[in-house]
Amino acid sequence: MKKNLMGFVVLSMVLLAVFFTGSAAWALKNVCPDCNFLQEDMELTACPNCGKIINKCLICGTVNPIKNDNCSECSASLAESRVMRTIDKDVREHLRLGESDRAKIEVELGQIKDKVEKGELTPELASREVELLTKMDWWSKANLKAIEFATKFPEATQTALVKKCRVKSLRQLGFLAMEDDEYAIANEYLKTALELEPNDKKTANLLKISQNELKKE
Ligand SMILES: [Zn+2]
Ligand SMILES: [Zn+2]
Repeated sequence: MKKNLMGFVVLSMVLLAVFFTGSAAWALKNVCPDCNFLQEDMELTACPNCGKIINKCLICGTVNPIKNDNCSECSASLAESRVMRTIDKDVREHLRLGESDRAKIEVELGQIKDKVEKGELTPELASREVELLTKMDWWSKANLKAIEFATKFPEATQTALVKKCRVKSLRQLGFLAMEDDEYAIANEYLKTALELEPNDKKTANLLKISQNELKKE
């Protein structure tokens, strides 16, 4: 815990230092992070002024043309790599930046988003997205994506997995609504979850409590 706190302090200092010394351009793709040279030829991979490689993917190591927002090899967001590369490699390794579970999930979600934008949505990708959103506790988004999945891929083999994620998301949304004393809304979420999974005891219990509260109002 102490180590984490130290890491956080160091990271905050690094970010503050970058913020105050450089202009906001430090993470822009068309400005060289070493010499601040403004890049005009976006097809290049290196700064013509100092030779620095501008757009290297930190996930897979591919060197991309400056114009790329996502890695041509693995679809990871390159903006993140550009920010990371302004932080010293030793500091980065010491802090294990980008290696937390949540950071990894965010990278994967970015990769999926890029593929979807290119029109490459498959049941595998769509179900994985729902799974990852659920892992991130983004219940509302997970629920919406699960509905979308069921509409787009009604026969897919991942249907059971997506349903499981949706039931969990709906139960959490119901619970959050109950915490806000929004029992009518909670009932809707919980009822939908039970329609999908009638044997879900946790949801059934929550619904019972929520319905009782609603009667008191
Ligand atoms: Zn340069
Ligand atoms: Zn890559």
